[in-house]
Amino acid sequence: MSTAVLSIGSNLGDRLALLQSVLDELASRVRAVSGVYETDPWGPVPQQAFLNAVVIAEAELDPIGWLELGQAIEQAAGRVRELHWGPRTLDVDVITVGDPAPVRRDTERLTLPHRYARERAFVLVPWLDADPAAELEVDGVLRPVAELLAALGPDERAAVRATDWELRRCG
Ligand code: ADP
Ligand code: MG
Repeated sequence: MSTAVLSIGSNLGDRLALLQSVLDELASRVRAVSGVYETDPWGPVPQQAFLNAVVIAEAELDPIGWLELGQAIEQAAGRVRELHWGPRTLDVDVITVGDPAPVRRDTERLTLPHRYARERAFVLVPWLDADPAAELEVDGVLRPVAELLAALGPDERAAVRATDWELRRCG
């Protein structure tokens, strides 16, 4: 068995339903789920705010298996999205895989731990919510996620806002 930490995000269409679709697809593999957070988008393209969450799941999968499962879930959401709303409604990123030791991988197709996790409040804030004891390997050293989060600027943390929405675990 391996355990994966998945960061999920949506900023187009029925954002909450798209995040929920990840839980529905993972079904009995879900071990923990964070609250739903809202994060302002950045960059030159005006777009709706993101909803972000973190799901921790367990399955008989290797690291590429987790990547492919995430991409299959994105595609399942994409079919709905092509009919109604246009591109890019659901992003599923693999933050870590524990096998049970943290897997290290450095290829273009799959980098573990995820390259930008350590500096993204919209990953770290929900992850800490799903697992208060979470740790992330940074430069070969396991660091508490709470510590990495404290090192980010207060503005970055404040940009990730808790909402009243909840994702349902099923199965
Ligand atoms: P992004 O998540 O950076 O906004 P995409 O979801 O389109 O962009 O992913 C781009 C590529 O990143 C994918 O083709 C995927 O193979 C690669 N990738 C590398 N490492 C990871 C990872 N840990 N999780 C998800 N995708 C990854
Ligand atoms: Mg992605």
